[in-house]
Amino acid sequence: MSHGDAMLDDKGMVTACPHCGQKNRVPYERLGETGICGNCKAALPFPSAPLEIGQEAQFLRLIGGTVPVLVDFWAPWCGPCRMVAPEMDRVAAGAGGRFLVAKVNTEALPALAQRYQIQGIPTMGVYVSGRELARTSGARPAAAIEAFVRQALAG
Ligand SMILES: [Zn+2]
Repeated sequence: MSHGDAMLDDKGMVTACPHCGQKNRVPYERLGETGICGNCKAALPFPSAPLEIGQEAQFLRLIGGTVPVLVDFWAPWCGPCRMVAPEMDRVAAGAGGRFLVAKVNTEALPALAQRYQIQGIPTMGVYVSGRELARTSGARPAAAIEAFVRQALAG
């Protein structure tokens, strides 16, 4: 696992139960629901850290759902992106199930970045049901990122 508490695979999100440690998979189409652990029946928490997108197929499944997704398009060599990373962590920790936060490494997934016409990084986009609601570029603090998401979802 990366620095988060959940990761994506081709079927959904895999998250460890905070109570018993059992890994549970929440299918993409049920990401908006509160799941329970298949082992101990404890409630599974919503991810509190950004989800790393490993493949374009995961990206498409994730943004195709009814849960809004804030996506951070970044690259390891990009200084402003490194400034945004802890801010995205903060936004993810505070999202509380209203939306998911995901990261796309444009260096690892150049075809995806090209298809979505990511011209500068960091770029942040808000997606729901496969549609892009809003997009913005440039580093900013967590409060400004949250305001961007609120505005995108209100419009
Ligand atoms: Zn459990």
